[in-house]
Amino acid sequence: MKLSAPQFWRVKENQYKLVITICKNCGRKTVFKRPICPHCGSDGVEYIESAGIGVVEEFTKVYYKRDSSEDRLPEVVGVVKLREGVRVVGEIVGIRSDEVREGMEVEAVLRKYVSDEPYGIIYYGLKFKPV
Ligand SMILES: [Zn+2]
Repeated sequence: MKLSAPQFWRVKENQYKLVITICKNCGRKTVFKRPICPHCGSDGVEYIESAGIGVVEEFTKVYYKRDSSEDRLPEVVGVVKLREGVRVVGEIVGIRSDEVREGMEVEAVLRKYVSDEPYGIIYYGLKFKPV
């Protein structure tokens, strides 16, 4: 889903960094910066930035092309368990789709998502590549 420029600007912190929310009430961690804990509803939260290193737990291949996407098909989208213990879904890049394996170590990298052709905004965000 492509966001409008104002929407993207509002969520850019979660697009460019892997921020983890830690709840001071229940102690659970959640990926992305959230003002309220989604587990217990407490607003007593603090934030850390993930090192961006994790392991691919599972993955799938996507065979449809998004608007303005320059990625080759199929795209590999995986569930990555970060060292900090939380899971995040992201595209796996920098490797052939038939070489992706469960258990492989990956790191978060900033990459182009899509662009508003021909002269519009270029949207960047986090993907994962093999370590
Ligand atoms: Zn909580």
